[in-house]
Amino acid sequence: MRRLGVLGWPVGHSRSPAMQRAALHALGLDDWTYQALPVPPELFDETVRALGAAGFAGANVTIPHKRAALALADAASEAARAIGAANTLSFGADGTIAAENTDAPGLLDTLPFDPRGERALVLGAGGAGRAAVWALREAGAEVLVWNRTHERAVDLAREMGVEAVTAGVAAKLLVNSTSVGLGVADPSVTFKMLPLSADSMNAYACVVDLAYGDGTTALLQAAQRAGAATVDGLEILVRQGARSLRIWTGQDAPLDVMRRAARAE
Ligand code: NAP
Repeated sequence: MRRLGVLGWPVGHSRSPAMQRAALHALGLDDWTYQALPVPPELFDETVRALGAAGFAGANVTIPHKRAALALADAASEAARAIGAANTLSFGADGTIAAENTDAPGLLDTLPFDPRGERALVLGAGGAGRAAVWALREAGAEVLVWNRTHERAVDLAREMGVEAVTAGVAAKLLVNSTSVGLGVADPSVTFKMLPLSADSMNAYACVVDLAYGDGTTALLQAAQRAGAATVDGLEILVRQGARSLRIWTGQDAPLDVMRRAARAE
């Protein structure tokens, strides 16, 4: 039996187990398993170091462990190092741990156009914002970053060689990587917390919202009304998970199977 899992705290809400199990089954990998691994921060290092010997081939990593996952790895990809976080670990037969970040390329996989040479506005300078800014810059986009706490946007922009802005400027692509999302009951509140108005959504050809759960965020609803292409957080979850699965198994992931499983829960 080859084992996989998702490390988080808490992790009960994660859709990765259902999504990855469905993918493993569809690929005929019935001797592989994927499970939730709830691990508190103080036990993260010792738990992860024991996983390889316990039969784990790899693990996804979610909040709050992505930085710690990078720190304990013996080797890390350029994306993981530049972003400062890892969401995918692989356990070698020799006991070594390799770290990768599939959030960044997973975001690019969802876009309906090549962002090279296009302007992209990223909202948020937290962990997800860092991954989005790095991915889009690497893909050749002109990246602007806005954050509620402006100094964080300035620091991130300086580090990544992009521009910090204080308003919701027009762009071909808008990426919301703040935690303002589905938890907001009144749609008008979303537009008070972000530098946008529902009427300004026609300034974007495509709007990506990393928030995920059941239903559509107020931001994506407004974008759809304005005729923009939209991408939700579940599609990004599917794409990052598909890349992780390929790293561990070497097989192309069954995207439709994963989408159905991620959305069914
Ligand atoms: P994080 O590091 O805690 O960053 C939170 C970000 O949200 C910061 O930019 C913060 O701004 C901003 N923010 C929080 N409350 C706000 C408010 N009331 N108004 C305006 N901005 C606010 O979190 P994260 O890891 O980047 O995650 C951000 C979101 O992305 C979460 O919803 C998470 O679930 C989602 N996510 C989705 C995926 C996926 O696969 N779909 C992957 C990763 C993350 P300040 O700096 O001013 O506090």
